[in-house]
Amino acid sequence: MQNEDRPWHALEVDEVRTHVETDLESGLTTESVTSRQDEFGKNVLPEKEKTPEIIKFLRQFNDVLVYVLLAAAVVTGFLGEYIDTIVIVLVVTIIGVVGYLQENKAEEALEGIKKLLETKATIVRNGKQSEIDSSDLVVGDVLVLAAGDKVPADARVVQAEKFKVEESALTGEATTVEKKSDVVKEEAVLADRKNMVYSGTSVATGSAKAIVTAIGEGTELGQINASISEVQTVKTPLIRQTTKFGQTVSIAILIISVVIYAFGYFLRDYEPVELMLTTIGLAVAAIPEGLPAVISIILALGVRNMAEQKAIVRSLPSVETLGAVSVICTDKTGTLTKNEMTVKQIVTAKHDIEVSGSGYAPNGDLELNGQPFDLDDDESMIDLLTVGKTCNDSQLNEEDGDWVINGDPTEACLLTVAEKAERPIERLKVISKIPFDSEYKYMATLVDYKGERMIFVKGAPDRLFDMASSEDFKQDYWDEKRKEIADRGQRVLGAGLKRVDSSKASIDHEDVEDGLTFLGLFGIVDPPRQEAIDAVAACRDAGIRIKMITGDHKDTAVAIAKELGMEVEGALEGRELTDMTDEEIKEASVHNDVFARTSPNDKLRLVKGLQENGLITSMTGDGVNDAPALKRADIGVAMGIKGTEVAKEASQMVLVDDNFKTIYNAVREGRRVYDNLKKTILFLLPTNGGQALLVAMSILLGAAAPLSPVQILWVNMVVAITLSLAIAFEPLEESTMKRPPRPANVPLLSRYYIFRVTFVSIIIGGGSLWINYMLGDFDYSTEKLQTITLNAIVMAQLFHLYNCRTELAPAFNRHFFDNKIAFLVSALLIALQLFITYVPFMHTLFGTAPLTWEDWIYPVAFGAVVFIIVEIEKAISRRVIGNRNIH
Ligand code: ADP
Ligand code: MG
Repeated sequence: MQNEDRPWHALEVDEVRTHVETDLESGLTTESVTSRQDEFGKNVLPEKEKTPEIIKFLRQFNDVLVYVLLAAAVVTGFLGEYIDTIVIVLVVTIIGVVGYLQENKAEEALEGIKKLLETKATIVRNGKQSEIDSSDLVVGDVLVLAAGDKVPADARVVQAEKFKVEESALTGEATTVEKKSDVVKEEAVLADRKNMVYSGTSVATGSAKAIVTAIGEGTELGQINASISEVQTVKTPLIRQTTKFGQTVSIAILIISVVIYAFGYFLRDYEPVELMLTTIGLAVAAIPEGLPAVISIILALGVRNMAEQKAIVRSLPSVETLGAVSVICTDKTGTLTKNEMTVKQIVTAKHDIEVSGSGYAPNGDLELNGQPFDLDDDESMIDLLTVGKTCNDSQLNEEDGDWVINGDPTEACLLTVAEKAERPIERLKVISKIPFDSEYKYMATLVDYKGERMIFVKGAPDRLFDMASSEDFKQDYWDEKRKEIADRGQRVLGAGLKRVDSSKASIDHEDVEDGLTFLGLFGIVDPPRQEAIDAVAACRDAGIRIKMITGDHKDTAVAIAKELGMEVEGALEGRELTDMTDEEIKEASVHNDVFARTSPNDKLRLVKGLQENGLITSMTGDGVNDAPALKRADIGVAMGIKGTEVAKEASQMVLVDDNFKTIYNAVREGRRVYDNLKKTILFLLPTNGGQALLVAMSILLGAAAPLSPVQILWVNMVVAITLSLAIAFEPLEESTMKRPPRPANVPLLSRYYIFRVTFVSIIIGGGSLWINYMLGDFDYSTEKLQTITLNAIVMAQLFHLYNCRTELAPAFNRHFFDNKIAFLVSALLIALQLFITYVPFMHTLFGTAPLTWEDWIYPVAFGAVVFIIVEIEKAISRRVIGNRNIH
């Protein structure tokens, strides 16, 4: 299916069609699609060179801790302590395997997200238009492109209306290029091929039909091997912060080790070999090697949980940012409301009619003062309903007793109300039309009605009032009626008609600038979603502000905002924003809660204004023009259902169900994740601090080594693979959604956290040193002493986990048993400790010895004491710094 000599852009449409054997009207048939797919494969770019598994595995060993350990292995080897050497090498391998598995798990979670974000393409096959996954496209498919679509493959344009494409991904040119079907010179360069569209670019405006000429690797994009819309896996600020923290600590530890070694060597009479081993133990003890891995696991789990709750987050850092969101800008229709429209009221110049019934089923009546309304009483009512039904791109069908709509709900409800009239209303044949766009807010059609050629217009009343500025137009009456309907929270649509010359064959915006005969108004209810009402209240508790941004009229928007329970301090219209300076917008963005009649540019300026106030801003959007605002926002939120591909790509999060509640849920999950990250750090660091202190103090005091390096390794390892994972599954604390958002850029380790880590390190380090010292009076073997110390530290960590499951709240609360994983890993840890204490083979490897049951009193009591002291400390801190402000 290759064109022999001339490139696609130099061929006539018909030649292209023949080459790829397709039909412009009906597209390909299922058989030819199947055979082409079998022959040429999927429309996908080859996966970026995947890092080989072995490299991924080896990469785990590129770590300061591993270097220290390998050095230790060599040293012990030289010293003839072969068992230690073997154990160290074994442990290094296990660390590598665990790190590798954790990394894979995190990657898996993100891979799953990638699948959810697959782009869609609209095509014609078997004579029917439908939407498919872009990956299923074949050469010869007839593509239907509309504003906001990603171009899914290279294609030759065969028909175009005001069709402009943004090609910067390919040409670097930021301006949009108009595309037509005309043949282009053979030697034209890529940027000049005005009849071709290329994979990876996007449609800015207009619509077109095009025949696919290349897919996958065969596309221009495939040639340069760029990849589109990837889920980014960049390191989050938090991971970067902790990695750096870990490195700094490691270096500090190495220096301290050298100093302590020197101290022990010159000022205490240690055997050099023993001292060397103890110092290595010190370095091993102090390095928090497990931390970065645990953090990425927690974030990846967060991404997965959010996806389950219908919020697809496209990058790990967004999970962190979500937890800090302080203002949510959301649109109204469909997000806060159900987007199930019902016409409730119809107003003409003579009558004010109520409509009964709700939903799309045409069950109900037009009523005047409670009595059925006779259409013969009001000619303009029939006209009004006819305009509503004709100036309409939607469909209403009955399917198994259910009334389902196809198209815009605002239009479908006009079909329903026309059915409710007691006499059939005509749907006229449309000769030409201007489709609805939020930009100009009306729709117009050219039709033949009552023997005359006319333009029917329906749209936002204020737009139509401007068109109707003739003498007999009663502006005051209509303004009052419009306001009356809007104040009830109903969406208002106006309709009118204009007689034109019978020769007129097409219409444009100039044709409806004036001379419109205004017919009447529709009042349409779009009830708020119950879950949105709940989420609005929950946001208030959480100190998150909500800004409603809508194309609807201000009165309608304010009324709905109040129904939703929003506090409306002020409301502004888009044109008021347009007249403001950036400085004024900064002010206005905080003091107003409803922004009506807004344009995409208003959204962008609002985001900037809010950010100027130091607020972490989330902004929703669906159209192509929303992309700049979505990109600019800290969390750009695209609508999964009504959003365009361009909007999705510009945003950090995609709402599968277009529901406001989902944004709230994502923020809540973000806060949970961030809290758990902090708790994990709070929990893990004292393990290192405590052990390091124990070893360092022993050397300084000239005491025998409290733990051997391999024993310290054991402690770090068992804690890393059991306890440290528990906090990731900790549910949200009740207080978390009752306190204001965390300010941007707070350091990870607040003063309280530094205090707490130091405090617990001292208890664990000092306490275990004391136990060691005290037991020294008994006639215990070194092995037994060390086994007790080892168990003491592990027990301290085990109990301490339960301190850290809540930040400052008491450990025992009614959610104590909620996190089953915590108990599971605790049991696992106990099993591991029994294993190292009683299995003879482990005695050989780790130099441990069995304990009598009395010996266990020390470790268990120690753990309990740590737990109690920290709970007391938390209670005091709660009093001193308060539960709300620990950031
Ligand atoms: P939003 O979705 O934010 O509520 P839109 O931009 O969709 O706002 O609509 C703005 C206004 O345009 C509506 O208040 C209504 O008056 C008018 N409008 C909405 N949909 C249509 C349509 N399909 N045809 C004509 N006018 C419409
Ligand atoms: Mg809308």
